[in-house]
Amino acid sequence: MLQRDSEVDAGRAGGPGQVCGHGIRLVMDPGKGRCVISATRFVRGQTVVVGDVERVVPTRTNHSFQVGWDTHVDLTSPARDINHSCNPNTGIRDNDRGGFDFIALREIVPPEEITWDYETSEYVSIAVPRCLCGEANCRSVIRGFKYRRHDKHWQPTHLARYLGGNQLPGGSDDR
Ligand SMILES: [Zn+2]
Repeated sequence: MLQRDSEVDAGRAGGPGQVCGHGIRLVMDPGKGRCVISATRFVRGQTVVVGDVERVVPTRTNHSFQVGWDTHVDLTSPARDINHSCNPNTGIRDNDRGGFDFIALREIVPPEEITWDYETSEYVSIAVPRCLCGEANCRSVIRGFKYRRHDKHWQPTHLARYLGGNQLPGGSDDR
């Protein structure tokens, strides 16, 4: 009930925002382009966005997701529109349909933007040559897991299954 009310409110107040259901809306930000915004509160461990496979693509693109060593897919909206952050509020988890679900890493309070870390799925990332997330721990250059994995300051709890899944410390408590 709370979720439904929040969606209605978000749709009414959001102007260009498009309500995507389940407490999420998609908005156009003049500075950043498409953004996925929370319209309801999420608690740690909650599934925020479900990303299903729309199509398999032959090679990586700025918007594709890497779900296997040689497999790149486009996910359904709004998953495909979630922006990168070096201090994200969601982490990815492989779902049983070949895509990723986006799991809250902490409490998310509207109208916070939903973000995830591209280097947790992309072995080589081409989408964010220069990161402008503005977080204190911003890594500036986002080139992918291949280049990031030896960075001892980078300790993601959620990785794509082909990169090791959610076996890292702190990553298994949300099931
Ligand atoms: Zn950053």
